[in-house]
Formats: sequence, C-alpha cells, structure tokens
Amino acid sequence: MCYFNPMSISEFTLIQHYFASQALCRADVLLGVGDDCALLKVPPGASLAVTLDMLVAGTHFLSDADPEGIGHKSLAVNLSDLAAIGAVPAWITLGLSLPAADETWLAGFCRGLFKLAVQFQVQLVGGDTTRGPLTITIQAHGFVPLDKALRRNGARPGDAICVTGTLGDAGLGLAIVRQQLSVPAGHAGYLRTRLERPVPRIRQGLELRGLASAAIDISDGLAQDLGHILERSRCGARLTVDRLPRSPALLACVEAEAAIVLALTGGDDYELCFTVPPRHLEQVRALAAGWDCAFTEIGVIEVESGLRCQREDGTLYKIQRPGYDHFA
Ligand SMILES: [Mg+2]
Repeated sequence: MCYFNPMSISEFTLIQHYFASQALCRADVLLGVGDDCALLKVPPGASLAVTLDMLVAGTHFLSDADPEGIGHKSLAVNLSDLAAIGAVPAWITLGLSLPAADETWLAGFCRGLFKLAVQFQVQLVGGDTTRGPLTITIQAHGFVPLDKALRRNGARPGDAICVTGTLGDAGLGLAIVRQQLSVPAGHAGYLRTRLERPVPRIRQGLELRGLASAAIDISDGLAQDLGHILERSRCGARLTVDRLPRSPALLACVEAEAAIVLALTGGDDYELCFTVPPRHLEQVRALAAGWDCAFTEIGVIEVESGLRCQREDGTLYKIQRPGYDHFA
C-alpha cells in the first residue's frame, strides 16, 4: 500500500511494457513476469545460488549517468557475485524505485539490462516498481552443483593468490567521472568503460570449480576483498605489489606508485580474486591461457593472519589507503 503520490495506472502500464520486452524465454521458467509469483525449476543435483545488490543514485552512480550503463552495471554486479561462487546464472528479479516514469530513461535502462541478460542467458522473472528516489535492486539466481561452490573459507597456507583481468581501472574511471582528474580521451573512454560496464567473469568462475580453494569478486578493492577470504579461511597472505596486473591505460595516466595504490584499493573492478592449491596450479594456468582476460599470480597464502605487502625485492610495502567503505 502506498499513501503518497503513487504511480498512476498508466505509469505502471508503461513500465510493464518495457520489462515485457525481453527476448529470452528459458525452459526452466514455468511462470514468469505477470502473476503473483514466478514458478521456477531448479535442476536436480544443483543448489540455488542467490545474491542481491542494491544500487542507489548518488551513492553507486551519479543520478544523471547514462541509463544504459546503469542497466548493464546493475545486472553485472550481481552476475559477478554468481561468478565468484562458481554458479551458472539463470534468473533475476528486479525492484525499481523511480522518481518518475521517464520513457527515455526506461528504454535506455532496459537496453543495457537485457543486452547483458541475453549474453548470459538470464531471464527476468518478476519484480516491483514504486515511485521514489532512483534505486535499483536486483536479485540474481544461479545454479551450482551440490558441494561444488567456490566459497571464501577454503584458502590454505601455500595456496597461490590469483586475479583475473587488471586492477584499479574502475577506481581511476571514478576519479575521471567525478572530474578529479583529466586524462587523454582514449584512456578516459577505456577507464570509464571499465567502471560503467564491468564484465562478469562467469566463465572463469565455472572453470575454477574443483580447482580454486576460495574465491571472491573484487567490488571494494583487492586488499579489502582478499581480507574477507583471509578472515573466513583463518589465515594470512603475502602480496608482491609489483605483480598486480595494471592496464596500459592506468599506467599511462598515473604514476607507477599511484597505480599500485589504485590496484590494491580501488573499488568496482569486479574481477575475481581466488586461491589455488599448488597441486592445481598447472591446470589453472593452462585453463587461463584460453581466457579472454588476464590471469596473474600475485601472492601466497600464509599461516600468520593479516595481509602483508612486499616489493619484488622483498622489502616491505605499506598500504596507504584502505578500500572503499560505503559508511566511511
Ligand atoms: Mg561479492
């Protein structure tokens, strides 16, 4: 029940029109959008992986940001969580709070959302819309065979610490969007794309099942997110900061030392950080040779708790700034 300035029937019809426009129709959706509930079929032998992310205008993106990019990112961050646990994406539900039923915005948002959804064969199966400050909540569902999920608590001393892709690009992209920094247009475009159109590493998550001992997606910065693995696995780690993968654009736009800080602490990269026991390392290296993103070994899990960073020559490196904290 809504007592104040609810959306009119025509506004709801308009919004429903946009969300009915998805092309995908999965066989495991017995009943999709339009009834009281969706009816969905989980494959036998699979557990259902469920994750939810909320994107708030002004906190997670600027209110005037490109709606297509917002549509992409609001789904991508959820798929990234499914990737981190090794799940195959299947369905999403969407909660949308909008200041007004703005057709241009809705059309752009749906373009970005459904393009990525089709790419990963994800179907929208339900949701709710209300008038209010621009907020997008997506709950994503995926499948992972029982006992095959990549969890945060399996890292053991001696395991290699690895990451996909390059780190720090999105952090620098944010500084560019906030106009804290101006860089050459070519690099700016690349860095903004890394911030606004993250690529969920679904394939990598699936291939790492049974090989990686722990995994997480990097949303708040490598140091902070690796810290979650260390906490849950009750161990520590040593990173060699000179090995952190940094893109040519990042290295062209900031000093080498600033690039390391961004790679360690910049948020929003949505790459995977995972640990690999020595006995599986050769196999993971071979698989990674076929990936469409970089694979880099950046450190090792140790018995002593805490995260230690060093230079290539073994000298200590002190982290200058912790990762992004939403409540800082
Ligand atoms: Mg996550």
